[in-house]
Amino acid sequence: AAAAPEAGPGPAWQSKCPWGAPSTTSMSCSLADVMSEQLAKELQLEEENAAFPEVVAAAEGPFITGENIDTSSDLMLAQMLQMEFDREYDAQLRREEKKINGDSKVSISFENYRKVHPYDSDSSEDEVDWQDTRHDPYRADKPTTTPKRGFIGKGKDITTKHDEVLCGRKNTARMENFAPEFQVGDGIGMDLKLSNQVFNALKQHAYSEERRSARLHEKKEHSTAEKAVDPKTRLLLYKMVNSGMLETITGCISTGKESVVFHAYGGNATEDKVIPPECAIKVFKTTLNEFKNRDKYIKDDYRFKDRFSKLNPRKIIRMWAEKEMHNLTRMQNAGIPCPRVVILKKHVLVMSFIGQDQVPAPKLKDVTLSSEDMKKAYYQILNMMQQLYRECNLVHADLSEYNMLWHDGKVWLIDVSQSVEPTHPHGLEFLFRDCRNVSQFFQKGGVAEALNERELFNAVSGLNITADNEVDFQAEIEALEKMNEDHVQNHGKKLSTFSSDGDPPIYDE
Ligand code: ADP
Ligand code: MN
Repeated sequence: AAAAPEAGPGPAWQSKCPWGAPSTTSMSCSLADVMSEQLAKELQLEEENAAFPEVVAAAEGPFITGENIDTSSDLMLAQMLQMEFDREYDAQLRREEKKINGDSKVSISFENYRKVHPYDSDSSEDEVDWQDTRHDPYRADKPTTTPKRGFIGKGKDITTKHDEVLCGRKNTARMENFAPEFQVGDGIGMDLKLSNQVFNALKQHAYSEERRSARLHEKKEHSTAEKAVDPKTRLLLYKMVNSGMLETITGCISTGKESVVFHAYGGNATEDKVIPPECAIKVFKTTLNEFKNRDKYIKDDYRFKDRFSKLNPRKIIRMWAEKEMHNLTRMQNAGIPCPRVVILKKHVLVMSFIGQDQVPAPKLKDVTLSSEDMKKAYYQILNMMQQLYRECNLVHADLSEYNMLWHDGKVWLIDVSQSVEPTHPHGLEFLFRDCRNVSQFFQKGGVAEALNERELFNAVSGLNITADNEVDFQAEIEALEKMNEDHVQNHGKKLSTFSSDGDPPIYDE
């Protein structure tokens, strides 16, 4: 064996190795090279991710191809093998499914028996949410954490946060924060101590699995006829049709960031419900991201205050639907033209359809009205805003030509899930914004009589803010809001109303 002497004094096995000494030449590159190469790889991956999410999903493929993943740990290897096994198992399952189904018209699915990514792990009414299980009384206590200063104990008995055992336990505990569908086992119960290295590798893995799962999930959703509706929503819709309440769901009217709206023909009336001939079904999206920045509408709404803190994201979304229902009902009672609520099921709100023969009424921004109609629309909206404020005790909070429909020669208000009461901590600001939208739309639309935003605000609220410029006006609004908040702080309840005329109706939740 011609052992290369320049390879240096290697371990004994190396010289005896029948395949010769491992070549070390490929390893000789500088740190900078590695860094930049890695950087390049990362950048490329990022780019690909953005451009062809599907392709990258496939390329990332089975976990084993990951080059920069440390495989020195037994645990990691075990995990990887398990993952491989699960995938093979699933593939076999699919083959069997295919064999059984053949080209029969009715097919069965083994979906539920798959090992990887049980995408539909949460269920209906009696669900236990992953967030609720964090305080599971049956679970072993989590390891104590190290205080901020980084050590516990005194003198010789000091244990720092770098203590291997402590740190290992902490890592194990942290593992519980991985995505809910990532099964981490009972590491705490076993007093498992994960080294930082293993923890990081697992975390990385959990993360990429999560993304993969999301992509898979997405693909699944889009492959169905009813786009953008997840299986659980589809089931809800299906039940509505099945029960005869709806005749057919014909198609999608609108896909927004926060909701999808469908058209349906109404079905049979029940004892307590008349179903309109045509319905709009608003499905609040259960993808959570877009709702996060709506927190401020609902968090400070005293009607939902007690409930908000205890809720998980899915329930918060149901609350949006519920809010829209309550608000529409108030408006209906005040005689404001708006959709009539038919039924609310979880995050799905069924209401009467504004429009005809599947064609939704156009938004105000999309119709060209005669100057006569334009003026009529303006006065109608002024009137509706006053009614909304005084009779319904509400501020629309997203009022604009996008959320007003023109139908039957008048304006209809829609999209009121974010509407709040005027005494909401930001209620008057929302009202001012609404006034600005309305005022600008009609001034641009050539309605000479249209009040400017400040006049409109006063006309709607009955407040008499005299500031003649926007900045001061805004400041006064905020001062009023602050006064109300202070009142809440001191007296434990809000002012009955900002307005002097008439008490708001007592709302029956
Ligand atoms: P988003 O929060 O997505 O804006 P909207 O309630 O404004 O939700 O509904 C989106 C669109 O769906 C509206 O702009 C309108 O065109 C249509 N739409 C919603 N509700 C109805 C309804 N009851 N009748 C007819 N069309 C509706
Ligand atoms: Mn809208």
